Amino acid sequence: MSATSCDVLIAGGGMVGAALALSLARGGLAVALVELHPPAVFAAPDGEHDLRVSAINRASQRLFQALGVWEGMRAMRVSPYQAMEVWDAGGNGHIRFEARELGEPDLGHIIENRVVQRALWDALEAEPGVTRFCPDAVTHLDISAREARVTLESGVRITASLVVGADGARSRIREMARIGLDSRRYDQQALVATVRTALPHRETARQRFLPTGPLAFLPLADGRCSVVWSADDERAEQLRDLDDAAFREALAEGLDHRLGAVLESGQRAAFPLRGSQARHYVRPRLALVGDAAHTIHPLAGQGVNLGFQDARTLVEVLLHGGTGDPGELRLLRRYERARRGDNVVMMRAMELFRYGFGSALPPLALGRNLGLTLADRAGPIKKTLARRALGLDSPRPPCRPG
Ligand SMILES: Cc1cc2nc3c(=O)[nH]c(=O)nc-3n(C[C@H](O)[C@H](O)[C@H](O)COP(=O)(O)OP(=O)(O)OC[C@H]3O[C@@H](n4cnc5c(N)ncnc54)[C@H](O)[C@@H]3O)c2cc1C
Repeated sequence: MSATSCDVLIAGGGMVGAALALSLARGGLAVALVELHPPAVFAAPDGEHDLRVSAINRASQRLFQALGVWEGMRAMRVSPYQAMEVWDAGGNGHIRFEARELGEPDLGHIIENRVVQRALWDALEAEPGVTRFCPDAVTHLDISAREARVTLESGVRITASLVVGADGARSRIREMARIGLDSRRYDQQALVATVRTALPHRETARQRFLPTGPLAFLPLADGRCSVVWSADDERAEQLRDLDDAAFREALAEGLDHRLGAVLESGQRAAFPLRGSQARHYVRPRLALVGDAAHTIHPLAGQGVNLGFQDARTLVEVLLHGGTGDPGELRLLRRYERARRGDNVVMMRAMELFRYGFGSALPPLALGRNLGLTLADRAGPIKKTLARRALGLDSPRPPCRPG
């Protein structure tokens, strides 16, 4: 058994953990990164799209640019989108955003999760400040006033000033630290697939709110679309069991035939949806980021973007907080204060959308149609909504001293 020490140990080298590791190492901290699964290799830009994609907003893109990994992602495969249309199946409410109305080159990019993770890991491999332990996992965590002691499955023992749980929604680190989770099932599943449609998507992301949940068609650079269909459990199970031809028909109908017939659909995968918030984001010598701290409904494509905001804020606090001890609770609380409120507001907003649009009650149906139409016509409201989605406006400064 070998023993080593570092400033920060990060458990989980997914998109958020990898970005955090790179940022902290670039800031001069010694980082240990522990990841269960070796990240996937990206074969070729003309190969099959992975089913797991994320709508990456401008704030996250800027983080990638600052870390020097954006060009690597572009060289693999990213799909910019210029416009977004959202409408309601239960009425004539409709809203459309366009990049040029905001003076922006695009409204964001659809990127495979494995592309984001691969580009970050390529940079980590050249980063002397990060020691990677992969495949490996934290099996034991012991926190004292002076340090955190961690044992890995491989038997390696590591002493760190701070341990960060970036190990996803089922975080072991959160469990080991005995941090509770407020979690609610949405009784919906997100079905994902990659499809080809008869009509061109024109770099427009489309989302239609059906009574059983929202259906999104996200445009990919090769002309296909990545579909995320969030549906009530019963409907999701029906959809999952359909044969390919019937599933394609259901998709075309679900989108109100806006892209014509669905000509091809490949594999499908389903993800049960829940909203959750860790009761604490920090403890002495411990912090949670990304899905380990919070999960939200995917209907606005914000989950990992919030995780990157967590990472950015934690980096700012640790590198510029000025105490010299990254595990100090007073410092970590600044991170929690800066992030928790925003993450909760976003989760509640998504729930409001989900319940508001899922309801067939006449007052709600009328209200949401009126709301969409008014927002579409009211320039400043629409602009504010779009800037928030791009991550260009934050309701509060990233972190406050205190
Ligand atoms: C259908 C769907 C669509 C979505 N679309 C979007 C979108 O468009 N935009 C968006 O912003 N978000 C989206 N999200 C949310 C987004 O996928 C998540 O927020 C994001 O994956 C969280 O990243 P993470 O790095 O925090 O966690 P994860 O991606 O879960 O990564 C955790 C990492 O930790 C590793 N790990 C786990 N346990 C251990 C352990 N014990 N030890 C070491 N390592 C461990 C795992 O192998 C993994 O690599 C979507 C989610 C779903 C379900």
